[in-house]
This record gives sequence, structure tokens and C-alpha cells, in this order.
Amino acid sequence: MTYEEAKKILKAFIEINGCIELPIVINAIKKAIEALEMRTPKKAYDVNREMKSFDCPSCLSSLYAEDELENVGYCCVCGQAIDWSADEET
Ligand SMILES: [Zn+2]
Repeated sequence: MTYEEAKKILKAFIEINGCIELPIVINAIKKAIEALEMRTPKKAYDVNREMKSFDCPSCLSSLYAEDELENVGYCCVCGQAIDWSADEET
């Protein structure tokens, strides 16, 4: 099962059971969804590509690396996984 599949199932569970008295379970599932969101790589914000300046897509902190920025797998502030795969030109 992928993270995306797990998130879909957990979100559907909340929609079905959200009106029932399950606040603790619902809060635990929301926390799990948040954790899955952080583990799912997201594209960094391209602040200035030539200057190799990028921001975290979740907390907007600057992403730093001693050598290649693409070696930064996670934001060191919030832990968001970063996706450096090639962008499609828009
Ligand atoms: Zn971050």
C-alpha cells in the first residue's frame, strides 16, 4: 500500500465516522494523515533556481545543503520529504 492509498482510506474513514462520537480516534487518524503528508515528497518552492535557492513546500523554510541541494531529502525544520525530480516546463 502506498502512502497516498493509506491517506485516502484514512480520510474516507473520517468522512464516514466523523459524526459519531469518536473524537480520540478521529484525532489519531488526523495525526496519521499529517505524518503521511510529511512522508510524501513534495516539490520545493523554486525561489531562485540560478542561485539554488529553494523553500520547503510545507513550512517555507529555506532548504540548505553543503554540496548538491538535490541531496536534501527532508526539510531540517519540519521534516517534509522533498521531491527533486525534474519539473515539466510550464
Ligand atoms: Zn519544512
